[in-house]
Amino acid sequence: MPANVLVVEDEPAIQELIAINLEHAGHNVLRALDAEQAANMVRNVLPDLVLLDWMLPGQSGVAFAKRLREDERTRSIPIIMLTARGSETDKISGLEAGADDYVTKPFSPRELLARIKAVLRRRSPQLTDEPVEVAGLRLDPGTHRVIADKTPVELGPTEFRLLHFLMTHPERVHSRAQLLDHVWGDHVFVEERTVDVHIRRLRKALEPSLHDRLVQTVRGSGYRFADTPG
Ligand code: CA
Repeated sequence: MPANVLVVEDEPAIQELIAINLEHAGHNVLRALDAEQAANMVRNVLPDLVLLDWMLPGQSGVAFAKRLREDERTRSIPIIMLTARGSETDKISGLEAGADDYVTKPFSPRELLARIKAVLRRRSPQLTDEPVEVAGLRLDPGTHRVIADKTPVELGPTEFRLLHFLMTHPERVHSRAQLLDHVWGDHVFVEERTVDVHIRRLRKALEPSLHDRLVQTVRGSGYRFADTPG
């Protein structure tokens, strides 16, 4: 499950070590040396996960985590804090600032990768390779196959990602901007009506098995994936 991971770390040697290990595991790495650089990067591309050092020059990691949580666009990005501190109070203030997990330096690359995987599985199930099944509709990210009532469904790559995101986040309303952020990965360069075009294609592909009814329009808000037909 390759993810775009933003590493915010001011010590070049540690940043390099983390980046090499993440890239080796198949992730794409974006690097920032402080919170300001990181904020600029996040403005352009939403990462799938942020590895955030606690002690940074300028704005601290904790303050930056709070900033990400306060902005609607960046609110749901998973955050793992990196720190040399290990005390219980520091851990609590990191988690209160909105971090999903916490890794204490020095950590082994293997431990870090395991934590990343666990957080992504919990927070971004559409990035994992686990098959999902809803009401007779099965999507397998590992084989890139979609089966509706035992019949294969042919989908384009965008419709596949869109369906994967919807199936792993059922019964919630997603605005077009949110779908662009999560499925296209970068809302800056795509128009919102693009979402409607791909929803239409997805519904058409799901029509023969009547699973198109699961993809529901929520007037004035966006789209929702129902976890039961009807
Ligand atoms: Ca540091």
